[in-house]
Amino acid sequence: MAYDYDNDNIFAKILRGEIPNRTVLDTGHALAFEDISPRAPVHVLVIPKGPYVCFDHFQSAATNEEIVGFFETVRGVCEKLNLSPGEGGKGYRMIANTGRDGVQEVPHFHVHILAGRPIGPMVMAV
Ligand code: 5GP
Repeated sequence: MAYDYDNDNIFAKILRGEIPNRTVLDTGHALAFEDISPRAPVHVLVIPKGPYVCFDHFQSAATNEEIVGFFETVRGVCEKLNLSPGEGGKGYRMIANTGRDGVQEVPHFHVHILAGRPIGPMVMAV
């Protein structure tokens, strides 16, 4: 499997501090920040700090520590924003757009966390 990571993608610049962001949570292995163009009252992006293009790349090349650290950060965001259904929150949708057909715009692996209202149907019917 070959993945060509673009060091100049927008999230790489955010990680290097070259572009500002509204940080929600910063942990050893991941950064969570508000999406610049929110599609819901809560719209947070969570990205690993390592150079991974998409989920498949991340899962196959990252260390177990990075993978666990990333998902702990996702959970940390849900906890901080009181979204977890098991803890009285109203829930959320987690999305990982991947590759061309997944309509991934930024080639650095990320998940979207959308919440704050019922998010609606999973995808539009065609
Ligand atoms: P994708 O389509 O790749 O899954 O989503 C990329 C997301 O990154 C979009 O929701 C877009 O609004 C967000 N985004 C693009 N540029 C920036 C930026 O400079 N700052 C922040 N915070 N979000 C961005």
